[in-house]
Amino acid sequence: MSKSTRRQVVAALIAAAASLAGCTKGDKGSGAAAPVSEASKGQDPVLATLGAAQKAEHALLLSFETYATATQRDDPSFSVLYRALARSCEVRLEALTEAIVAKGGAVPESPASASASTLAGDLQKAIADVGDLSSNLYPELRSNAVKAKDTAAVQVLAYGVQVLPEMESLLQAGAEGLASGAPPSVQTYYVCPTCGHVTTTLDFDECPYCYTMARDFEAIS
Ligand SMILES: [Zn+2]
Repeated sequence: MSKSTRRQVVAALIAAAASLAGCTKGDKGSGAAAPVSEASKGQDPVLATLGAAQKAEHALLLSFETYATATQRDDPSFSVLYRALARSCEVRLEALTEAIVAKGGAVPESPASASASTLAGDLQKAIADVGDLSSNLYPELRSNAVKAKDTAAVQVLAYGVQVLPEMESLLQAGAEGLASGAPPSVQTYYVCPTCGHVTTTLDFDECPYCYTMARDFEAIS
């Protein structure tokens, strides 16, 4: 998917979340015919917001898993990076899914699984996808949750706002290394089991974002 197509998809997700949110305030006319149970599904703007984040994290997770498998044999340093990033997405996916279930919402369907192309192509696509979530989708979704004054949703969305830029930096460093003929060597990444913070050094006592103890981080190598 091209960067601009991806942008359109993200914009559509935001619009869908916003229109679901809008329904609730609404327009007595348009929703009047819907059965109560169906109408109530659209009544919580926070559920729509959490659902959009859940779907986006799930799509990223599937991409990273695909790329990790594709690079496993010939580019193990990238494979371990992708596995660490996949785990980071999975942590937030689980938290978002729990938040949706706790609110009595329906868990979104799984997105289609990704396909791999070349190492450089996959890296560029991953950078574009993560960049869109980081600069467009997540800030928008978090502000929806802030407007709705839902502190639990704000917190789980804040994890994405905080962690996605560091994921983008790791991918960017990998792409720059590849382009300059000095790809990263295989190393260990540490992933926070609460927010998905990804780091190469445990030089802190607690996660800077969610205060999980450093000793509880998961090592991926
Ligand atoms: Zn954390």
